[in-house]
Amino acid sequence: MTDQNELVKLSAYEMAAKLRAKEISSRDLVAAELDVIDAAEPSIKAFLKVAGEAALEQADAFDDLSDDDKAELPELAGVPIAIKDMIVTKGIETTAASRILEGWIPPYDATVIEKLKAAHMPILGKTNLDEFAQGSSTEHSAFQRTSNPWDVERVPGGSGGGSAAAVGAFEAPLALGTDTGGSIRQPGALTGTVGVKPTYGGVSRFGAIAMASSLDQIGPVSRTVLDSALLQEIIGGHDRRDSTSIPEGPRPMVAAARDGLNNRDLKGMKVGLVKELNGDGFQPGVEARFHEAVKKLESMGAEVVEVSCPHFKYALGAYYIIMPSEVSSNLARYDGMRYGLRVMPPEDVPQTAANMMAYTREAGFGDEVKRRIILGTYALSAGYYDAWYGSAQKVRTLIIDDFRKAFEQADVLVSPTSPSTAFKFGEKMDDPLAMYMNDIATIPANLAGVPAMSIPAGLSDDGLPVGFQFIAPQQRDEVMYKPAAALEAALEECWNGPIWQSLRTPWLDGLNK
Ligand code: GLN
Repeated sequence: MTDQNELVKLSAYEMAAKLRAKEISSRDLVAAELDVIDAAEPSIKAFLKVAGEAALEQADAFDDLSDDDKAELPELAGVPIAIKDMIVTKGIETTAASRILEGWIPPYDATVIEKLKAAHMPILGKTNLDEFAQGSSTEHSAFQRTSNPWDVERVPGGSGGGSAAAVGAFEAPLALGTDTGGSIRQPGALTGTVGVKPTYGGVSRFGAIAMASSLDQIGPVSRTVLDSALLQEIIGGHDRRDSTSIPEGPRPMVAAARDGLNNRDLKGMKVGLVKELNGDGFQPGVEARFHEAVKKLESMGAEVVEVSCPHFKYALGAYYIIMPSEVSSNLARYDGMRYGLRVMPPEDVPQTAANMMAYTREAGFGDEVKRRIILGTYALSAGYYDAWYGSAQKVRTLIIDDFRKAFEQADVLVSPTSPSTAFKFGEKMDDPLAMYMNDIATIPANLAGVPAMSIPAGLSDDGLPVGFQFIAPQQRDEVMYKPAAALEAALEECWNGPIWQSLRTPWLDGLNK
């Protein structure tokens, strides 16, 4: 049998190939990942809940299928996956990393979970995040601090730091995240993994805990571009339970990724370098890796043009009005009445429903969540609605228009994913605005509903991963997969292998004994 440490370092599609060749079983894969989880978790803390027993049962169910039945399943069948704890899983505690949902065991599965189960992909457990996906470092989790596998003193990004760290630390080959302003892509950038935010409506949000409904989107986390394409085709497609779901099925992303990987030919493709999304405020090492990668795209035949999106400078401002407005409304449901935490007022306080709700929300929500509920409630209040929310919506339209014009000049847009590499714990916790700046390059795609992804572009001078972002037109997700896969292959050739071969993994040392 393949050496366990080699096994967990394979990409998901390589694992799938070994399953098909009967070199390994799904149980072998799940058992190997559970061993890594055991060994890694004391230092990484990516998981809020490991569902080992259930995952092994799901693996056995796959292994017991006949060859004919297996042939009917998607390519990644039998390969395990981790799930951000913002996505509802029947029978597995789902908390959104908030005290207010602690102990809640959902009675149903999100649509994406149903699809993973139908594809016989074992679910390893639930990963850590900033409370209700609000943050850029995972430090706002009510339960634990997740470390970046590249430096355990640094954050893995956020809000989906748990999913990114789990995949980066080889605890899982794949994960799901949610991306409202960058929570899949920015952690991808900071951990050297691939993260994709699909077109808004391309993947069902049914069973994704709502943060800001007009921006939220579930998407893949992986170590290779092809793995994300394979996963996105499994989880994507129409769902009548999500009223914003796109009627058409998933785009041909796997074919596009394979084309990019195998042919590395980008002739005829116009790549638009977004003027407003690099330069000032971006770490020099991030800029350097970004421009080298752009050169690689050029060397594969792409034509690089500069495009200007003049309203992107207002994107962060608009996002921090629209998002908290929707947060304040979506989080109103956590009132101690229906599920989750209930805190009764002390005896000397009238025992009214309103007081119970106030005490529950005071105890159940963390500071960042409260900050956003207050901000959103203010922005939506009668006297201020037009000045704040109304203006932000107008800016949103201008940003959509910027994208429309940019895509008249280029097939795909590119930028660094995040202005900096992973920062130290605590560095930005006392400065919400500094934390918000992390998403400067990722937020425009959410405001416009267009698909975007981050892939590793190498290591900065500080030895930490840098992310490269591709953005494609709405409902044309496949358009970014081709150059992303081609760039990944070209970069790996320069580095003589994937980026994580330079990752030190002390947690794997004790295994294989
Ligand atoms: N970091 C951003 C925020 O704090 C994005 C969050 C997300 O995408 N869920 O809002």
